[in-house]
Amino acid sequence: MERKIEARLFVEDTLAAAVPVTLGRGQSHYLAHVLRLAPGAMVALFNGRDGEWRARIESLAKNAVSLSIETRLREQTPETDLWLVFAPVKRAPLDFLVQKATELGVSALVPAITRRTIVERVRRERMAANAIESAEQCGRLTVPEVREAAPLARILGSWPDGRRILLCAESGCAVPIRDVLAELGPAEPCAILTGPEGGFEQTELDALRNLPFVTAVGLGPRILRADTAALAALACWQSALGDWRERPSGRMHDTRNGRF
Ligand code: SAM
Repeated sequence: MERKIEARLFVEDTLAAAVPVTLGRGQSHYLAHVLRLAPGAMVALFNGRDGEWRARIESLAKNAVSLSIETRLREQTPETDLWLVFAPVKRAPLDFLVQKATELGVSALVPAITRRTIVERVRRERMAANAIESAEQCGRLTVPEVREAAPLARILGSWPDGRRILLCAESGCAVPIRDVLAELGPAEPCAILTGPEGGFEQTELDALRNLPFVTAVGLGPRILRADTAALAALACWQSALGDWRERPSGRMHDTRNGRF
């Protein structure tokens, strides 16, 4: 009877059979002192490149847990290519937004400073840590790229060809998101753009609407909080064009009960 998997961790190391992996201080502490695991316990590892692997704890030194990789649990499969460009919100809702957007499958998180953005400092490391933890928990095989915050104008100035922006516009004639998504193909790279709690300035909205790669979308008659709007738009995209159209493969790993 295979031993159950006790934890699922993201590592940078290359993953392949019989390759030794030594965890850093934080993850070692988590396995040794939080989960109180012992040599022989099994964990799942993924690195966003080589798929997901089953690994055995060989030794637990104070700040360095050593693992030996055994078998591959899942191949590395392509995941949705969807960016979230968002005006940063305050810390607690930002943590929530990063966690949930990661669960919803975003491939990149791009904080955009707009005219009414009130948040002074956006800590990229904190967002990255939240994204990794959320990816470990939700069973995805990648961790979203997390960018440094930058002015919206600069982000748009170097916007990649072929990626459409779905601008969540709470005012002005925005087409319901469902109708816009119905016109797009699943292969068309997209980004969801949401404003700050104070909304976009009218001049920002006008400038955005005049860009050929921007389509304004409406998310219903109510004014949603910025984090709600972002998550709602991501869910709509996943349902219409993303991996929610597929039946789950069933080989999703759930560390809570060690089965998959
Ligand atoms: N300034 C706005 C107001 O008070 O009238 C509210 C801004 S709203 C809290 C924050 C962001 O969420 C908006 O900039 C927009 O991107 C998005 N949003 C909120 N409700 C929306 C809706 N019904 N349709 C489309 N986008 C919406």
